[in-house]
Amino acid sequence: MACAPVILANAEIRDEFIAEGMRDLLRGASAGDVAECIARAVEDDPDEHTVGYGGWPNILGEVELDASFMDGATLRAGAVAALKGFRHPISIARQVMLRLPHILLVGDGAARFAAEIGAERRDMLSPEARLAWLDCLAEVGDAEGEGTIDLAVRALRRPLGSDTMNVIVRDAAGNLCSAVTTSGIAWKYPGRVGDSPLIGAGNYCDNRYGAAACMGLGEAAIRVGASAQAVMLLRLGWSLEAAGQEVVRQLSELLDEPSDGDHMRRADWVRLLMMDARGHVGAFATRPGLSFKVQTADDPQPVTGEAKWVNQG
Ligand code: ASP
Repeated sequence: MACAPVILANAEIRDEFIAEGMRDLLRGASAGDVAECIARAVEDDPDEHTVGYGGWPNILGEVELDASFMDGATLRAGAVAALKGFRHPISIARQVMLRLPHILLVGDGAARFAAEIGAERRDMLSPEARLAWLDCLAEVGDAEGEGTIDLAVRALRRPLGSDTMNVIVRDAAGNLCSAVTTSGIAWKYPGRVGDSPLIGAGNYCDNRYGAAACMGLGEAAIRVGASAQAVMLLRLGWSLEAAGQEVVRQLSELLDEPSDGDHMRRADWVRLLMMDARGHVGAFATRPGLSFKVQTADDPQPVTGEAKWVNQG
């Protein structure tokens, strides 16, 4: 039976990437192909400073990439973390799913796999991101003569935006796919892995119930198993609204913990995107002012909405 295709994404993704994805869905493309295609376009966008090329580097000036891909029809998934020097982490994550009996490859192993499958290499540090990193070091000090721990902790206190790519796609066959790709939190300690490549934390997808993906402070999403928990609540029969609010309430509780000495407070929010099995969507966040985009077959362009603010109460 034909189903209504839907694309749900974070608001930072350009309209044309989403609209092109909807055109492909209407021509019969699969959710997986469209999710990968949108993610690749965002990875190439130098104006997206928390994704792919142009992403902010770690405290040593290296761009370390995290990505995950989950197929809701089979519950198969693939992911890479702390990957350096490749243009499309999302495609490498998908290939991990397709070619290996594993889910997550990290660092050198992920790079070895990427090289073996012939993935395109790229120096992912843009001139603009390099300058921002040098500015940061000028403010917080450089690594010479001091440990990286203190340097990273000081740098992580400086405010900076975040815009990990989340996309959840439902195709005309009713299959769901979710893709997440990011360079993670700027100036992170080398080897730090966020929620994005962790299935269950930053990404989860099951055709029977729905899908969820997160953006913002990955450490919080990991601690509550945010995406898997959201889908589990749908499985238990909760409405999309109630499930999203419950998970974000738990995230707010964590983020409201006393902040003394908490070096991650500067990214003190999380936004959760959700789609249920019928293609209904919702977005929930621990602070106001966070948006999302959705496009259905009836919309000529994506429509922007504001994520529902849920606080602890
Ligand atoms: N969630 C990502 C992470 O913690 C960051 C982001 O959304 O920008 O790595």
